[in-house]
Amino acid sequence: MNKSVDPVTFSSKIKRIAFQKNIPIYGSFEITHRCCFDCVHCFLGPVKATQEIIDNELSTDEIFKIIDDIVDAGCLKFLITGGEPLLRPDFKDVYVYAKKKGLILTLFTNGMLIDEDMADFLKEWPPDTIEISLYGACDETYKKVTGVDGAYTKIVDTLKLLKERNLHVNLKTVIMTINSDEYFQLMELSKNLGYKFRPDAGVFPKLDGDNSPLQYRVPAKEAAEKELTDEIRAEEWETQINNNEGLNFHADGFLYACGAGVTDFHIDPYGKLMPCMLVRHIKRDLRTHKFIECMDDIRKKIKKKKISLDFKCASCDNQASCGYCPGRFLLENGNEQTCSTYYCELGMYRKQIITGGLCV
Ligand code: SF4
Ligand code: SF4
Repeated sequence: MNKSVDPVTFSSKIKRIAFQKNIPIYGSFEITHRCCFDCVHCFLGPVKATQEIIDNELSTDEIFKIIDDIVDAGCLKFLITGGEPLLRPDFKDVYVYAKKKGLILTLFTNGMLIDEDMADFLKEWPPDTIEISLYGACDETYKKVTGVDGAYTKIVDTLKLLKERNLHVNLKTVIMTINSDEYFQLMELSKNLGYKFRPDAGVFPKLDGDNSPLQYRVPAKEAAEKELTDEIRAEEWETQINNNEGLNFHADGFLYACGAGVTDFHIDPYGKLMPCMLVRHIKRDLRTHKFIECMDDIRKKIKKKKISLDFKCASCDNQASCGYCPGRFLLENGNEQTCSTYYCELGMYRKQIITGGLCV
């Protein structure tokens, strides 16, 4: 009998095996923090493109060496992100190097720097996925979020360029008070282009502790309702919730049962290796130490972090629906084991909608 497995179930199986065997299969790399947008909610905060910042970024050769090392360590899927990664003059060299090494690439970009030439390049070297955030359905809203004039018009051009080349693009939108009214227009735009659309309720504080992005959060009920009007997203959540029903995420006592620092790793533009994009207080320097040694150190530290029995999440049934994430708790509350009321509410509403207890 030919039994097919859905992608969510398949990737969680792969991840479980990699977790048991300590293989860092998922990596992300911010090749620069510089950006041509200045988004109000960006967790990196504003990064000035000073010469000092540029000089401190990893060189092309340093990046090549890191890519060699992560491939040797077992990395399979690799996200190239920023800031805006296309701002680096050596972007194409870095990208092609990673591609030739056999990494399954995802590219996060805001889409502003994709012209005919860049679109042709991506067609020649197609990534697994290009992911672009949509910040609004008109230039005015885009400007309110990004600070840039004419950005919506440019992004729609970019999307057409990518469509003409039949590239695999996923669109996403962080649902915020600024753009929430345009949410359904953005869904429609994605649908018309034939692209998958992923809403995201993930607005969290900046890495320096600045809580100002939280003012843009929409109420959790509204976020869950909007998110789950998208059929594909609703199915993904349903699979995730059903697959994890009754499972004890923390049977081994690990606080980070998500894979941060074990299956997942993150690298910043200055060569610092960390458990994931949100967990940055544990870090090792790839300029002075080998990837495999740094990863071993990080994994030991992460696996030593045990969940406390009096932590509310330890015995909660909604972990699969809230997007349980100690990294977010740390950013929001300064403590990995103090959960976020907002994510608790999101999880509750998602579950209610999916199990039919709340109509949308
Ligand atoms: S954040 Fe809230 S909903 Fe999620 S696991 Fe913790 S207590 Fe449960
Ligand atoms: S800490 Fe949060 S963001 Fe990081 S890997 Fe775990 S769930 Fe994902």
